[in-house]
Amino acid sequence: MTAQNKGVQDSTIRLISENGKTIDVFGPADITRETTDAIVNAANSSLLGGGGVDGAIHRTGGPAILAECRQIAGKIGSLAAGKAVITTGGNLAAKYVIHTVGPIYRGGASREAEKLASCHRESIRLADEHRLNSLSFPAISTGAYGYPLAEAASVAISATIDALAIAAHVTKVRFVLFDVSTLKIYVRAAKRLASSTASFQVEEVF
Ligand code: ADP
Repeated sequence: MTAQNKGVQDSTIRLISENGKTIDVFGPADITRETTDAIVNAANSSLLGGGGVDGAIHRTGGPAILAECRQIAGKIGSLAAGKAVITTGGNLAAKYVIHTVGPIYRGGASREAEKLASCHRESIRLADEHRLNSLSFPAISTGAYGYPLAEAASVAISATIDALAIAAHVTKVRFVLFDVSTLKIYVRAAKRLASSTASFQVEEVF
């Protein structure tokens, strides 16, 4: 392990709620390797695949996921920002993929925060409906969709804290961040939110 890697892993953290539910902020890592019950895809409204994490999930998961997405798109047309749908995980280790559409950032006054929060609430609700215990999120909207990282981190983690509190089956949520700078910003936001709600313990994990 290089010194740089060790430093990064040292900053990977876990928030633990009073009733034992956990939120991990983990990275730098590739979400397609996650072994949670579901991984969340930052899809686009067409559901027909794209670049970034969406491309990586379809490449690794294989054509079954796209075939299911096409079927869903055939029924509902396009998927609005803030909504989520579920498919199987194809060749992925995760059994399911939850596809949600993040908002495109247009300066912050176009209900972006509400839509990004909804992505997290809806994904956790859908996982819970399917009686899943664990799911992993990427940093939705922070790539091609341009959402400023610190703001996105804060919205994503606080919506997750709220949704996890009312989930019956989901007990474990992971944020799997692809690069070091994103990881650091999500770790900072998680620590700040954990200390402001007081109902979470923070553990450094490896
Ligand atoms: P959006 O269109 O919602 O902005 P992107 O896929 O462009 O989605 O980017 C969202 C985040 O996903 C970015 O932080 C990007 O670095 C990250 N990302 C890209 N590939 C992966 C991957 N394989 N695993 C986890 N995160 C990834």
